[in-house]
Amino acid sequence: MSQDKAKKQTLYAVPDPSQDSRDSTDGPEPPGEVCPSCYGTGMEFVEGKGVRRCQCRKQGSHTRLIETARIPRRYDNCHFHSYKPQNASQERAFRFSSRLTMDFPAVEKGLLLMGSVGVGKTHLAVSILKGLIERGFSCRFYEFGGLLKEIQNSYNPVSQTSEFKVLEPVFNSDILVLDEIGTSKPTDWVRDTMAHVINTRYNDKKLTIFTTNYLDKPKNSHEETLEERIGVRLRSRLYEMSKTLVLTGEDFRKSFDASS
Ligand code: ADP
Repeated sequence: MSQDKAKKQTLYAVPDPSQDSRDSTDGPEPPGEVCPSCYGTGMEFVEGKGVRRCQCRKQGSHTRLIETARIPRRYDNCHFHSYKPQNASQERAFRFSSRLTMDFPAVEKGLLLMGSVGVGKTHLAVSILKGLIERGFSCRFYEFGGLLKEIQNSYNPVSQTSEFKVLEPVFNSDILVLDEIGTSKPTDWVRDTMAHVINTRYNDKKLTIFTTNYLDKPKNSHEETLEERIGVRLRSRLYEMSKTLVLTGEDFRKSFDASS
């Protein structure tokens, strides 16, 4: 290169990879790795178009959404593509769940997936969450009994409130899964707390997905109904805020046993 050409060459400041220029919300950058597209600046240059937020930062926000959703590790393999409907009721639930995932936020109601153990209710609820995380929405998964424990443990008898950090994601996540409602012993406190959570989300028009092993019309008369477990008022509220789908079939886990 001639000396003249060298003089005309504009020099851009390339950030020192050892200097962390990420903002505090970006999460930790993998040690020793600097993005080849943005050199750690978070902005990438697109020929003929200008600059845009770098892909590496978008991946960062996806990772954050996955982490904050707190989906238990045992559901790592649960996705729509790994769900194999075994009968018409499961096929219907599968179709309805995928459509909801595509249409959100233009949906009026959440979902109540009902059915006996192992028919794939949680699998579908988790698939919805993962699909909506892909689309950039904030999601949260709770096994309902676990949530009640968290609320109870953070309860401050002086202020008579539970910690904000426990309740904030319950109220504010775009989509909330409450897995296995009705399973906890239905004391007054359990019902009041459940009503508080569900009514707050209902009033704020936030989407909630419920799963339950209790039916409205159990086959055996000695089995309790969902209404008996959660109370008439709350069952009625669930009708208003969610579409009820009943899944039938065998416990899918039995097929794991048969194939081993
Ligand atoms: P439920 O919530 O109805 O009790 P889960 O969704 O937890 O049942 O399902 C139990 C296990 O069986 C999980 O590992 C889940 O991935 C698997 N499973 C259930 N139904 C299906 C299905 N139709 N296709 C693939 N896997 C399934």
